[in-house]
Amino acid sequence: MPLSKKEIDNLMRQVGLTKDSEINCEQCLAIVAEFAEHQLAGKSVAEGLTAIEHHLSICGECREEYEALLRTLDASEGPTDG
Ligand SMILES: [Zn+2]
Repeated sequence: MPLSKKEIDNLMRQVGLTKDSEINCEQCLAIVAEFAEHQLAGKSVAEGLTAIEHHLSICGECREEYEALLRTLDASEGPTDG
């Protein structure tokens, strides 16, 4: 489900982020699922989520988590035979 800017703002507040701040792994993992859903919805990266994108680009552990999420979300929407 695509997120509105307001929903993203709320998420950012919940994990203690501001849009220009660096984030740590804990904060990244708290909202990486939302980021993955946003990506799968075909949206460009929302303003508040660029911090996530940046963290994923520098953190292999979180990137693995993100890619696993993408596979899970993708599989849940596609055909499941096999
Ligand atoms: Zn990380």
